[in-house]
Amino acid sequence: MKARILIVEDEQHIGRLIKFNCEAEGFQAVLVGDGRKALAELEAGPAPFDLVILDLMLPEMSGYAVLEQLRTRSVQVPVLILSARTLSEDKIRGFDCGADQYMTKPFELPELLSRVRGLIARHAAVKGAAPAAAAVPGASERYAFNTAEIDFARHEVTVRGESKQLTALEMKLLKCFIEHEGKLLSRAELLDQVWGFDATPTTRTVDNFIVRLRQYFETDPSHPRHFLSVRGMGYRFVAQPTGAGSELARESENGVGADSGI
Ligand code: CA
Repeated sequence: MKARILIVEDEQHIGRLIKFNCEAEGFQAVLVGDGRKALAELEAGPAPFDLVILDLMLPEMSGYAVLEQLRTRSVQVPVLILSARTLSEDKIRGFDCGADQYMTKPFELPELLSRVRGLIARHAAVKGAAPAAAAVPGASERYAFNTAEIDFARHEVTVRGESKQLTALEMKLLKCFIEHEGKLLSRAELLDQVWGFDATPTTRTVDNFIVRLRQYFETDPSHPRHFLSVRGMGYRFVAQPTGAGSELARESENGVGADSGI
């Protein structure tokens, strides 16, 4: 079955250009011109979508509002924001609302299509029957730490018994941390392993995703005990901190602190 892409774009010529090229890549594409129609397609369309390409400045309902609605309603489709807004505040807000990638207009078509292919492939890998090679080494597809239980094969996460809806990329980042438990990972390594060659070329992307993982999993996201920042170097996932005090002491002995990140 062809992967389905929803294009939300009020500038007709841009929307048609993207639709035409996505179809030429072998995808099925649906173009809508405003946020309400986008939500209607996502919730009541004939089949689920594998990717949303979302403009921010839309009539009536902004792209941010669409994204917030989607994530509130636990729709896990990957979202690529394509916007003329170039300020870092806009990008951060986009990531905070649950976007997976952010591209600015004007854009290069080959780059857009490369990101589209990458996001769809990763989404398929996460939601489909996860191949054995993707399993956590030495463990099953299930993993637990603190109050969290994760089933990678079924794309299910609960924290304190409450279901959490992570996006495909958030799951991939989480898996990367779990596979390298205790190891320091630089932002560049994380970008390479999780986002791949078509990564948004900013380490800020990583920081924003870490903020989201902390919000899901940390008891106190402003004092993380599992997803630790190693200042100036990267991040480290610790499944079982040996106690807040000793963890901080150990970190500071090494000349690094568990700061709250960005
Ligand atoms: Ca627009």
